[in-house]
Amino acid sequence: MSKVKSSETVKVVVRCRPLNRKETAGVTGTPGGRGEIVEMDVNRGQVVLRNPRALPGEPQKTFTFDSVYDASSRQRDLYDETVRPLIHSVLDGFNGTIFAYGQTGTGKTYTMQGEWLEPERRGVIPNAFEHVFTQISRSPADRQYLVRASYLEIYREEIRDLLDPNVHAPHVPNVHTQSPHTLELRESPESGVYVRDLTSCVCKSVKEIQELMNLGNQVRSVGATDMNEHSSRSHTLFLITVECSQTGLDGRQHIRAGRLNLVDLAGSERQAKTGVRGERLKEAAKINLSLSALGNVISALADGRSGHVPYRDSKLTRLLQDSLGGNAKTVMVATLGPAPQHYEETLTTLRYANRAKNIKNQPRVNEDPKDALLREFQKEIARLRAQLNHREGRGKHRKEEGEEGWDGEGGEEGEEEVEKERKLQKERLEEENKAIREDGSLLAVEKQRLLGEKEIMMGDLRKERDTTKQLTAKYKDFRDLCPSSTENGKEKQAVTGYSRLYLIIENFIPPEEKNKIMNRLTLDPEEDQWKFQLLTSSESQMKKRLASAVGYKRPISQYARVALVMGAHSRYRAENILFLELDMSPPTTVSLDHWPSEVRPNCSPSPTDNAPNRERATRVRKSRSWCQAPRAITSSSSMVSLATHSTATPSTAQ
Ligand code: ADP
Ligand code: MG
Repeated sequence: MSKVKSSETVKVVVRCRPLNRKETAGVTGTPGGRGEIVEMDVNRGQVVLRNPRALPGEPQKTFTFDSVYDASSRQRDLYDETVRPLIHSVLDGFNGTIFAYGQTGTGKTYTMQGEWLEPERRGVIPNAFEHVFTQISRSPADRQYLVRASYLEIYREEIRDLLDPNVHAPHVPNVHTQSPHTLELRESPESGVYVRDLTSCVCKSVKEIQELMNLGNQVRSVGATDMNEHSSRSHTLFLITVECSQTGLDGRQHIRAGRLNLVDLAGSERQAKTGVRGERLKEAAKINLSLSALGNVISALADGRSGHVPYRDSKLTRLLQDSLGGNAKTVMVATLGPAPQHYEETLTTLRYANRAKNIKNQPRVNEDPKDALLREFQKEIARLRAQLNHREGRGKHRKEEGEEGWDGEGGEEGEEEVEKERKLQKERLEEENKAIREDGSLLAVEKQRLLGEKEIMMGDLRKERDTTKQLTAKYKDFRDLCPSSTENGKEKQAVTGYSRLYLIIENFIPPEEKNKIMNRLTLDPEEDQWKFQLLTSSESQMKKRLASAVGYKRPISQYARVALVMGAHSRYRAENILFLELDMSPPTTVSLDHWPSEVRPNCSPSPTDNAPNRERATRVRKSRSWCQAPRAITSSSSMVSLATHSTATPSTAQ
C-alpha cells in the first residue's frame, strides 16, 4: 500500500526576534548595559547563549541546529530554505508538520502567520497556501487534485472545531451563534490519530482557503498577557489535505494523499512573568500541561531508551503523534527572545529544540488510502457523466461520440444541440396537438384522449430538460472541486492581455525585482492613475559593489584581467587614467635677467640666451601639466604659442 522511506530526523531551526520596545528600554537601562544574550552564527547554524549572571570564566552555551535565523532574518528566507521542501513532499503524498515552539511573545504566531497584508512579512501559513495552489496549477496535465482544509484549537484540553458550521451563523459574517463543538480523538491503523467529525472544507483557490482561516480566527481564543498583547491562549492546528490522482504505469488511477499540519502553539511561560490571574491562570495551567507533555514526549523519543512515549498525556501530543516519531516529515521552529531577563526560558527552549533534533520519523508516501475523498468524487463524476451520456443518447442521435463521450464541458456546443433537439420535439408535439384539435373527423372523447397523451409527453420533455440541467450543474460542480492541470491548461489558453502579463510576472520575474518595482508604485488620487516614484539616491537603488572587484576601483571581467596580464592594452584597463612617465630633469631656475621683454618690460631683451631658456621652461611646464588644473595648462601653452608667434612674425615680415 505505501512505500516505506528510510527514517529521517526532525528538522529543527531556531529563530530569534529583535528586542522589542519594552526590552530595549530594559536592556539599555541595565546598569552597565549588558545587552542581548543571544548571538547567532547563521553560516554555521549555531546559537551562543550568554548567561547575564555568569561568573567570570564561566563558558557560554553553544547549540547547533539545521538552520538559525537571527533578528534580521526575513520571513521569505525561512520559508524558502526550511518550509518549501516540506510542501513539495506533501504534494508528493507525504505527511508534513511545522510547529513553532517557544516562550510567549517570541514570535511563534509571527513566524506561522505573520502580517497577512504585507507580502514581506507574511508567515509560513499564507506562503504555504500560495505555494500549494501554484504548484497544483503548474503540475503535469495528467494529475487531478483535491484540497481540503480543517482548523481546530486545543483550548483547556478540549478540541474545538473552528470551522464548525453551527458556530458561524449562516450568511451573517462575524456573527457567532455559539461556542465551537468539542470533538473527540480517534485512532485507526489506516489514518493514525484523527479528530472525529472535524469539519473539512474543499478549497479551490488561495482566496478560499484564506477565507476559511479568517473565519476560524474569528472564534479563536486569544487574550492579553503582560508579555504579548494578543497572546494565543490555545494551540491551533490548521490541517490541509492534498489528494492527487495520477495514472500509474498499470494504466489505472492511483491516489496519493499528503497531510500538512500547520501548528501554532500557545506560549510556554511562567505565570508570574505573564502577570495572569483567575481564568487566565487556569488557561495557563492547561497550556503548560500540554507543553510539558510535549516536552516529555520529545525527551522520551530523543532518549530512545525508554519504550514508553507518553503521547496520551495530552491532546496536543496525541494529535502530534505521527509528527513526532511517526509517519511524517517534521520541522520545528524554536523561537527565542534576546532579552537578558528571559535567560532561563531561552535556555529551556534551546534544550528542548536540541533534544528534538534526535527524534527519528518514518515518513512514507500515503498511496491509495481507503478514505480518499478524491476517489469518491471521481466515482460520482463518472456516474453523472454516464447519466448525462445516457440522456444525451436518448434525446438525440449524436453525430459521433468522442472516446470519453460527452464530457459536459466540450459541452457548450453539445448542450446547444440537445436544447435544439428538445425544441424541435416540443414544436412537433405542439403541431400534433393543433392537428388533433382541428381534425373534425375525430370524436370528442378520442380527441381528449389524444390531447391528454400529448400533454403527458410534453410534461416528460419538460421534466427531462430540468433533470438534465440539474445533472449538468452537479457534474460541473464536482469537476470544479477537483481541479486538474488539464483544465488549468485550458484556462491558461483563454487568458489574454493583463492576465497573461500577470502570469509572466508571477512566474518569470524574480520576486525581489518585482517587489522593487511594486514598492515604487503609488496611486495618484487626482488623476486616478498608478505612477512610478522617481528613483532617489536615498533608496540605495545602486547595486552594491561586486565582491569580485576587490583591489580594483570597479568590476573588471576575467577576460580583461587576462588581457591585462598578456600586455597592457588600453582597451582592457580597469581605470581610464593615462600613465605618464615622470620627467626627472632637475628643476629649472631662470634668472630674472633672461625673462622676455613682454614679461619684464623694464629689462632689455638678450637675444642669445632667450631661446634655450624658453625651451627648458616649456619642458618643465609640460612635465607638470598632468597634475595641474586644466586652466593652467591652457594658459601656459597659449603663452608659449603666443611667444613663438611674436618671434616668428617679424621674420615672416622680413
Ligand atoms: P508568540 O506567538 O510567540 O506569543 P508573537 O508572534 O505574537 O509571539 O510575537 C510578539 C510580537 O513580536 C509581535 O508584535 C510580533 O510582531 C513581534 N515579532 C515576533 N517575531 C518577530 C520578528 N522576527 N521580527 C519582527 N517582529 C517580531
Ligand atoms: Mg502566538
